[in-house]
Amino acid sequence: MTCHVSHLEAAIDGTRLPAGQIVTVHEGRPIWVRYDLEAIRRRVDRNAIQSREATLWRYSELLPLPDESCRVSLGEVVTPRIAMPRLGERLGVPNLFIKDESRLPTGSFKSRGMAMAISMARHFGVSHVALPSAGNAGGAAAAYAARAGIGTTVMMPRDTPAANVDECRAAGAEVRMIDGLIDDCGKLVAAECVEKNWFNLATLREPYRIEGKKTMGLEIAEQFDWRPPEVILYPTGGGTGLIGIWKAMQELTALGWLETKGMPRMIACQSSGCAPVVRAFEAGERFSKRWENAATIASGLRVPAVLGDFMILDAVRESGGIALAMADSGIAEWTALAAASEGLMLCPETAICVGALIELRRRGLVQPEERVLLINTAAASKYPPLFAE
Ligand SMILES: *Cc1c(COP(=O)(O)O)cnc(C)c1O
Repeated sequence: MTCHVSHLEAAIDGTRLPAGQIVTVHEGRPIWVRYDLEAIRRRVDRNAIQSREATLWRYSELLPLPDESCRVSLGEVVTPRIAMPRLGERLGVPNLFIKDESRLPTGSFKSRGMAMAISMARHFGVSHVALPSAGNAGGAAAAYAARAGIGTTVMMPRDTPAANVDECRAAGAEVRMIDGLIDDCGKLVAAECVEKNWFNLATLREPYRIEGKKTMGLEIAEQFDWRPPEVILYPTGGGTGLIGIWKAMQELTALGWLETKGMPRMIACQSSGCAPVVRAFEAGERFSKRWENAATIASGLRVPAVLGDFMILDAVRESGGIALAMADSGIAEWTALAAASEGLMLCPETAICVGALIELRRRGLVQPEERVLLINTAAASKYPPLFAE
C-alpha cells in the first residue's frame, strides 16, 4: 500500500503544510488533505477498484492512512444506491435514488469519518480523543475508539436523543451532559484537548473525517457508472458530508475518471429552525453567522456555528446548486410519504431533503428527466418516535 498524500493545505488561504503530523486548524479554519493525483492517475486503474473488497477501504490510494496495520474497521460496507421510482413519480422526478447510509456500523454515515479519523489517531499513537456531539457523531467516535483501544470523552447538549447518549456510554466513553448547544460543548472540548493533549475529533477540527466522508462521493460516482447524478440533496449540519462529496468529484475529475463534464448540483438542505448556511447563501455571503436559539428534531442539523461554512458555500455555488431550509413541521409527512411509497424509513435529516426536493420542483429548479440523489444519513430507529399514539 502506497500513501499518495502530498501535503496538507489550509482551506482559508491555501497555505501549504507538511503531512505526517497531528494538526487541528489553521487561522481557526479547517485543513485539506492533498494527494499526488498525477501519480495515482498513472498507477491506478479505475476499473481495477471494482474487483476489490466492497468497503470504503477499496479507495485506499485516495485515503490518508499510510499503514494498513492501523486500519480501524467495523465493516464499512459500500452502501446501496436504491432506485425510488414510486416516490420519484410522486415528486415529479422518476429518476430518484436514495443512498442508504443507515447500513453502516453505528447506523449512520458518521462511521465513515470516524473510521478514518480514528485510524489516523491510531497511526499517530494517540491514546485519547474528545468531541462535542448532539447526535450520531459521539456514538460513532466511541465505537471506533473502543475498537482501537483509545479512550473517548464526548460532551453532549443535555437534550441529545437518549439513543445517542446510550451508544456512547455502552462503548465505554466518558459522557458529559452540558447545558448548552453543540458549539458550547465544542469550546469545552477544545480547551480540554489543549490541556490534556487529547486528539480533538470535533467536526472539521482535524482533516481526516472529511476524507472518510469523501468515500460517499467516490461510491456515488462508481455506482452511477462514473456519470454522477445531476442533483444531490444533502442534509447539512457541520457540512463534512457535502464538502467530502464535492472533494471526491474534484479529485475524480483531476484523475480523469468521470465520463461526464457536468458535475452534480449540490443542494445544502437545513431545517428552518437552524439554517445559518442558508441565510449566508441567500445573503450572498461566504461566511455564516451563529444561528441563535437553534431548534430542530433533526439533531444532525442542529449546528448553529459552522466552522466550514465557506467550504460548504463554495461547493454549493461552484456546483450551481443552492441552499434551502424546510420547516420541521413537514418531517412526519415527508417520512410517511417515503416509507409508504417505497418501504424505506428516512431519518428526520433526510426527510428535510424530501421537503426540499418538493420545493425545488415547485420553483422549477429540478427538471423531471434529471437524476436526483438523496442521502439517507442515518437509521430512523435511532430517533424518538415521530407518530404519537
Ligand atoms: C451529522 C449528521 C448530518 C449532518 O452532516 P454534516 O456532514 O455534519 O453536515 C446529517 N444527518 C445525520 C443523520 C447526521 O448524523
